[in-house]
Amino acid sequence: MELKTYSSALAILTLTTFAAAAHAQNAQFPSLQMQGVEQVEIDVDIKAATDRLSQAVQFRTISNQDRDDFDTQAFDDYHAFIEASYPLVHQKLKREILGDPRPYSLLYTWEGKNPDLPPALFYAHQDVVPVPADSRDQWLQDPFAGTVADGYIWGRGVLDDKNQIHGILEAAEMRLAEGWQPERTLYFVFGQDEEVGGPEGARFIAEELERRGIERFAFVMDESAPLIPGIFPGLPDNTALIGIAQKGYLSLELAIHALGGHSSQPPEDSNIGILAEAITRLEDAQFPYRIHPALRHQYRYLGPELDETLQPLFSAVAFGKDGAMTDQEKDFIQMMSASPVTRAMIRTTIAVTMFNAGIKDNVLPPAATAVVNFRPMPGDTPEVIIDHVRKAINDDRITIRDISASTPATAIADPEGPGYKALEKTVRQIWGNDLVVAPFFVIGGSDSKHFQARPFAPDVYTITGLQLESMKEFEGFHGVNERILVDEYAKTIAFFYQIMGNLDAL
Ligand SMILES: [Zn+2]
Repeated sequence: MELKTYSSALAILTLTTFAAAAHAQNAQFPSLQMQGVEQVEIDVDIKAATDRLSQAVQFRTISNQDRDDFDTQAFDDYHAFIEASYPLVHQKLKREILGDPRPYSLLYTWEGKNPDLPPALFYAHQDVVPVPADSRDQWLQDPFAGTVADGYIWGRGVLDDKNQIHGILEAAEMRLAEGWQPERTLYFVFGQDEEVGGPEGARFIAEELERRGIERFAFVMDESAPLIPGIFPGLPDNTALIGIAQKGYLSLELAIHALGGHSSQPPEDSNIGILAEAITRLEDAQFPYRIHPALRHQYRYLGPELDETLQPLFSAVAFGKDGAMTDQEKDFIQMMSASPVTRAMIRTTIAVTMFNAGIKDNVLPPAATAVVNFRPMPGDTPEVIIDHVRKAINDDRITIRDISASTPATAIADPEGPGYKALEKTVRQIWGNDLVVAPFFVIGGSDSKHFQARPFAPDVYTITGLQLESMKEFEGFHGVNERILVDEYAKTIAFFYQIMGNLDAL
């Protein structure tokens, strides 16, 4: 990763400049890793659970860009399968099927012993991304057969995100079989359209729960990064990153509608040329870099675990305040801007994802359209971004239209809060102490943003409770050969079983 080579160059820079300070800093930059957590063993019937997850991926609950291409039968069949697979859950919990305008999201309510306690919510989504035809031959197993082979469960959705739906339901069924009831009310919400931003599912259910008068959630959990060794540049350790904030989401359509005609007599500037130039001007007008508070928390936890020569830099970021950037923060920005992943953590990003024009080689198209996807930092509202785009392209012939279920950047969950501590404790109880746990700033997004956007859910934590052996298995996220290890799926179920219990003591 470029970051690695870049960081060694920077290490030499900081080493000479801050050598003396380095040692002093460590004392003032102590590790925040939780100590002394005992591991627990939870007995899971993994054969039966694997069989259920294998069946679950066979339901093609696909979210397509074309929202009319929505297979309602697949969702109905999947719901019937879930109902048949978890009898105690469906006896003891209330199930509702909600969504607007199409109701295909699931809301389960598990009444707690103490109704005065603020409830907790576990979120996961039913829908999966498509398997493009041109990638089908790269799959070693059929993406919708639920094959169990080579120690893996294969299939679209086993990593994103049916593993979490079934991890939650398996754990609940186990606890119900033991006659257990939570102290606080637990909600399970399984959305129908996360992969297209959650407008019909998560957004509606978040509004509905607010309408029902829920004042505050003690804890909300959703998906994000799984546990992976080496997921973070400069940190070979096994790492559990807990998302505490998400960037926003916005897609704008840029379009020009002007005279087309015969290609034998072209105008000076074609519609395609005009739009292409506008796109180039926009890509040259990137948003300014800044350090999001969640990134300061991230480095407060990760910094002490990283290369000692860089710790003066990371502690400057960790303890830094908003306002004029210090020299060290400028070094940090320069280092982070070296790779797309870390660059996306320090500014609102601009990604041109679609460009359409023209149907025939001898016809000048009367229109050209492009779609630009933005991941806004806090404060970069749709209005701010549209204004930025208008100024950058500076061409009134181009129309700008918001075409997405746009959401603002979320609030920041408290990494010192009881929810974070309960999660870290649970991660260590299941996966042991030979790992680094840290809060992180999520550059992608997930449906919990619809909850965190409301005052009743300030503390939303995101993690995918699953161990991957290497970054290689990450290829399955929205890609090919999506697969998870059977043995690790057993730990996913144990993880949810354990966190449900740990929430009693929150
Ligand atoms: Zn997902």
